[in-house]
Amino acid sequence: VYGIFNFEQLPDGVLVKAHLFGLEPSSAHGVHIHQYGDLRDGIKGTKAGGHYNPEKKRHGLPPNKERHAGAFGNLVANADGEAKFEFLDHSISIAGVKNPVIGRSVVGHAKEDTGEQPAGNAGPRIGVGIIGVAKK
Ligand code: ZN
Repeated sequence: VYGIFNFEQLPDGVLVKAHLFGLEPSSAHGVHIHQYGDLRDGIKGTKAGGHYNPEKKRHGLPPNKERHAGAFGNLVANADGEAKFEFLDHSISIAGVKNPVIGRSVVGHAKEDTGEQPAGNAGPRIGVGIIGVAKK
C-alpha cells in the first residue's frame, strides 16, 4: 500500500485529502491519526502507539462528534485497489491549540472500522506515515 495524505489548515477545520494505491480491490479500511510519529519498527507501525485521543473520547465514526481526534472513518478502494478521500475534519488542527497532529502519524488498517469500542476493530496496520511539513 502506498500513497499520500495531505493536510491543509483552513479557518473552519483541516482539509484532509488522500490518494492511495495497492489496496485490496473494493475494500474498506479504517484510517486514524495515531499518537506518535515513530516508524522505528517500519511498516509494522506498532511504535505509532494507539489512537490519538487527547480529549479522552469514545471511539466513533464521522460525522459523530464523539470520536477520537483524527478518526477519519474509512477509505474505500475501487475495483483497481485505488482510494481517494477528502474530508473536512473539525476534531484536529495541524499545529494549533486544538489537538495538533503535526509529528504524529496516519495509520491505515487492513479492515473496515466498524466504530465499535475501543478502536473500531479495524485489524492490523497496513500503512503508516508521519505527518510532516512539505513544500507547497
Ligand atoms: Zn488506527
